[in-house]
This record gives sequence, structure tokens and C-alpha cells, in this order.
Amino acid sequence: MLEAARSLADAAVADRRTIHRRPELAYQERETAALVASRLRQIGIPVRTGVAGTGVIGLIEGGRPGRTVLLRADMDALPIQEESDLAYASATPGVMHACGHDAHTAILLAVSRLLAERRDEIPGNVKLMFQPAEEGGAGALRMIEEGVLEDPAVDAAFMLHVSHQHAVGTVATAPGPILAGANSFTITIDGRGGHASRPHQAVDPVVAAAQVVTALQTLVSREAPPTEAAVLTLGRLSSGTAANVIPDRAELQGTIRAYHDGLMREMERRLEEIASGVARALRAEARVDVHMRYPPTVNDPAMAELLAGAARAELGPGAVLEAEPEMAAEDFSFVLQRVPGAMLRLGVRSPGWPEPRPVHTARFELDEAALPIGIAVMARVALEFLGGSG
Ligand SMILES: [Zn+2]
Ligand SMILES: [Zn+2]
Repeated sequence: MLEAARSLADAAVADRRTIHRRPELAYQERETAALVASRLRQIGIPVRTGVAGTGVIGLIEGGRPGRTVLLRADMDALPIQEESDLAYASATPGVMHACGHDAHTAILLAVSRLLAERRDEIPGNVKLMFQPAEEGGAGALRMIEEGVLEDPAVDAAFMLHVSHQHAVGTVATAPGPILAGANSFTITIDGRGGHASRPHQAVDPVVAAAQVVTALQTLVSREAPPTEAAVLTLGRLSSGTAANVIPDRAELQGTIRAYHDGLMREMERRLEEIASGVARALRAEARVDVHMRYPPTVNDPAMAELLAGAARAELGPGAVLEAEPEMAAEDFSFVLQRVPGAMLRLGVRSPGWPEPRPVHTARFELDEAALPIGIAVMARVALEFLGGSG
């Protein structure tokens, strides 16, 4: 399969660069979705567009009846200003494919071509899921609600994600939990504004916010069991307009991550209690809103083994590593709650880079030599699941 994948590498790289140059934020992936739909139609794959807004579903029906395997790519970019002088750097100010979803989309398009060319020999179906809004918008969940796992019903699901922790040429997976569950929340602290010189007549939300930040540090250090992975980060704190004005309101935003749903819920409950209790002690009022909650990403052991086996067959046993659990999150977890499947980490770190170029930063970059590797492994695992590889 790797040889066939290499023959598609140039086209995949070109698609990836086209998408990279025109990044689109969550639920705005109109040009990307149009490119995906037109590529699929060109190779004779029927498509359904406008799923969950901008999602695209393709269906490759094999020549013989059988099971249905789903392969998934995400299409959205991030609100980051790219810092690079690449010829195909983002042409949209403030938006960047800094999580490799451009590569995921290009890889799945090439896989679609590879499998469509072999459709007569395939028992069963390959469903192609190009989703919007992985970055916090739960696009996968919305596509599930709009029927991506039905008609025909999906029996197994696979996806890959680029990994800057792994060298190009290697991939990684593991049975069981592979990514954490995550939420995102806002804490709004209402006080009462006033003149900086008369704090006794005001209720200072800045002081309350500072105490809430400190108190919340005990959630992980004193309340979560030390043997369980958990993290709380407050990534945003904002309040006020001037040095000599006590503002009315302060706002904090953050995220809690853990591997167990029970612990996530308990931490959310205590987040609310601590924030409102501390604020009340300082005569202010805190309100907590949880906007988003992704479950942990849990690989089915048998599907993870099938995926690792497909990777070993393509790349040799030395290139397939055991993935370490990470506290990042993925909305593919919603798919894995409903059907067995597994996630692959695709190594994209170039040996020539003196320092890492991690995802979610303006310096992110991936070694495009990884593309044919991802194509080959995804195509092979789909064929092996359906029992059609020879
Ligand atoms: Zn991301
Ligand atoms: Zn991502």
C-alpha cells in the first residue's frame, strides 16, 4: 500500500498546501468542504454535504456486501497568526492550520482515491467523514446527531492526528485511554465598580478573581487523587479599563482535563463551589458556565491492535510505537463512545529541525514526508477491517 500511497503523495501535498493557505475556523470550512466534495465527486464517490453545517460524508460501496468502516478527518483551523515564510503560509490574517487538520483532510482525500480504485474487490463499505469544528465546537458530535454513524450503520472507526512528539517515519497508538476528557469554562465575577481611591464603597472583582485563581489550584493538588491524571489551567483573565478605576466585572476562562468522567464531573462541581464561595467571602458573586465537554478518547483494544498491525505491515515493526497518554482532547471520542475504533498518532517531526514546532503555536510545522505514511496506514486498516486485503 505504501507504494500506491507514494504515487499519490504529490497530489496530497498539493491539496494540503491549498488548504493550508486558506484556513477556515470552526463551522466556517466552506472552501475546504467544497474542495473535499469536488475531489470525491471527481473519483465517483457520492457525497452528502452540509452535514453539521459544513461537514461532508462520502461513501465508497464495495463490490461485495460486508461491514462498514468509517475514516475521519477534521477540517478546521485555529485563531493563530502564522509566523512562517513558507510559500503556502496562511493568506488569512489571524487564522492558521496549526493543528495539522489540513494534512488530515489531504490524507483522507488520498485514501479515498486509493480505496475507490479498489472498490470492486472491497467487501463492505468505507464511509468518509470530513468534519467541521474539532477545535472546541464538537463537530463530530453534531455529525453523529445528523446521522454519520447510520445508513449504513458504522461497525468501526479510525482516524489519525499529526504528532510533533514523534519523528516522521514513525506512528504510535495504544489500547485504552489515549487522550483525556476536557471541558472549557468561563467564570464571571460580578462586583461593583468605583473610584480606585474608595475601595470600601466598591466590591473589587479583580481581587476576588485573583483569590479564585489561587484557590482553584487546590482542585488538582488537594482534591484529585494523586494517582489519577488531572489538570486545571486558567488560560484567560480579563478585567478593567484603567489603572484608577475599580471595574464591575472580571472574567476567567479555563479548562479541566482528566481521564475519568467521574473525576471530571466532581472537579466541575467543586470548581463551581470554590469560585462562588471565594467570591461570596469577598462580597462578589461568581457564576460558572461550562461551554464544552469532550469525553476521554478511548481506543478499543482489538481495533488498536488491528491499527498497529496495519502500521507494522506497512512500515516495519520498529516504526510503530506505543503511544503515551496525553492530556490533549479530541472530539473523535464521541465516535468512540458509540462504535469501536482507534486513533493513530502520525509522526511529523523532521530530523532537520533544531527545536520542536508544536501544534497550537504560530511556529507549528509538519514534515510532509508523513503524508504517504498516513495514507498507507489508513487505507490498509480499512481494508483489513473489512477483510479485503490480499
Ligand atoms: Zn488542535
Ligand atoms: Zn487537532
